[in-house]
Amino acid sequence: MSYSYDNQNIFAKILRGEIPNNTILETAHSLAFHDIHPQAPIHILVIPKGPYVTYDHFAQAASDAEILDFTRAIGEVCRVTGVQPGEDGNGFRVIANAGADGVQDVPHLHVHIMGGRNMGRMVTQQ
Ligand code: AMP
Repeated sequence: MSYSYDNQNIFAKILRGEIPNNTILETAHSLAFHDIHPQAPIHILVIPKGPYVTYDHFAQAASDAEILDFTRAIGEVCRVTGVQPGEDGNGFRVIANAGADGVQDVPHLHVHIMGGRNMGRMVTQQ
């Protein structure tokens, strides 16, 4: 696997405290904060604190503790935002864009948790 992590990306700067963010959850290995340009009433980004570029990079290179923490952080964000269908929430979408075809802008793994409205079809028809 040949991933090269750019430590000048915007989420690396957020993790170093160089630029502000609107945090909703911080754990040992993860950070969740509001997307600066929300595309839904609920639009949260969850990132691992480690230097992982994409989801596949994280899934293959992160420690068990990081993967557990990140997964639990996503669940906790769903809980605190009230979107869980199993708890009377109205549902949500999780998106992790990767690379050129995935149209990933920031080269630090992040998942978008989006809800608060019907999110429409998963992809637009071409
Ligand atoms: P992606 O296209 O999947 O890489 O998404 C990157 C996301 O990061 C976009 O939804 C941006 O609005 C969001 N974003 C960029 N800069 C910031 C920032 N400083 N704070 C919060 N979200 C940001």
